[in-house]
Amino acid sequence: MSAIKQISVNGKSYKWPTKPAIIICLDGSEPGPKGYIDTAIRMGLMPFMKSMISKSTYEVGKCAMPSFTNVNNMSIVTGTTPDIHGICGNFFFNPDEGKETLMNDDSFLRASTIFEAFENAGAKVAVITAKEKLRKLLGKNLRKAICFSSEKADVANLKDNRIDNVLDLVKKPLPEVYSSDLSEFIFAAAVEIIKKEKIDLMYLSTTDFIQHKAAPGDKMANDFYHMVDGYLSKLYDLGCEISFTADHGMKGKTNKDGSLNLIYMQDEVDKKFGKDECNVVCTITDPYVVHHGSFGSFVTIYVKDKSKINDVMNYIKKINGVEMVINKEDSIKKLKQPHDRIGDIVVTSNEKFAIGKKESDHDLTKLKEPLRTHGGLGETDIPIFISRKIDDSYKSKGILKNYDIFDLALNYG
Ligand SMILES: [Zn+2]
Repeated sequence: MSAIKQISVNGKSYKWPTKPAIIICLDGSEPGPKGYIDTAIRMGLMPFMKSMISKSTYEVGKCAMPSFTNVNNMSIVTGTTPDIHGICGNFFFNPDEGKETLMNDDSFLRASTIFEAFENAGAKVAVITAKEKLRKLLGKNLRKAICFSSEKADVANLKDNRIDNVLDLVKKPLPEVYSSDLSEFIFAAAVEIIKKEKIDLMYLSTTDFIQHKAAPGDKMANDFYHMVDGYLSKLYDLGCEISFTADHGMKGKTNKDGSLNLIYMQDEVDKKFGKDECNVVCTITDPYVVHHGSFGSFVTIYVKDKSKINDVMNYIKKINGVEMVINKEDSIKKLKQPHDRIGDIVVTSNEKFAIGKKESDHDLTKLKEPLRTHGGLGETDIPIFISRKIDDSYKSKGILKNYDIFDLALNYG
């Protein structure tokens, strides 16, 4: 396959990797000097990363909006924004069905993945993610690539996943779905697969279970990044080129006294405009909600009487903790949302606040730790790391995006 030099997909082209290229999405890795990685490096817990700083490319960039997991994983692996790939949350209000619908099914994905294009050109591709829901989206149309989730590693099989006996290969038990082990399993599997197979392109996507629970510098977070550092080092020593980014950052929404900064948006608009006049859709809601109680920093609102949209927007703008209120047109233009999957209004909370639907819908008793979540503009910072110094010309791109990571890793000399 050495004759093939460029792969084109979604209007961008990518160079064939000269050595195994591993692209990692470190879920929820709030970056910067006060972020998880730099803090762990300073505390001496990421010796590999420390040794790489002077010989790598390491920047802070931005993610796509809303700053949610599936939205950004799909942005990263298609190299595009939600208006193109169509995934704009875990849930959306489906006009065809007249109700809120889970966006897990790969039929909702409107763009080809970079993996699919490489697979079609004969590349050996491997994709490992934490949760099965994301595996289905990432694996769309793949027929030859290894593609499995650590959540369902025990039932991975040749027909569906192009790999079997994963637990034996990794020599680890099936991890709990709410655990740090779920992410560690991904790295451990990656190491074994790299040792065994000639992989051209690999994508690893962890879960933000730890980042929802622990702030940068907390023991749980430090343990996690120390673990990650060990695997990055192993994969690098196996001759891989390693790049990572994140799907989104993460911010604490709890005050020092333990009180939560929450906005119950459905209750707010019901109180002012009457019941059933507005439908607030919390698009972060998903079947795995224990760690954030379904609170995010982004909601979209459908207004029954379209003539009231401006009134609703003006009212919401005055609510304490609200950061941005824009109409549908602006959400399409500025936030690159898909026109048929977004409501009449988009609202984000500031980095100290989270938004829920109705107080009676959210079970706060399940929140064992201070609330940390994402979805808004305050959680759009993400790290960009490539394990070599790439050509300076990348700086002309301006603010780097997480969905540039394949471009930066594969195309720059
Ligand atoms: Zn995430």
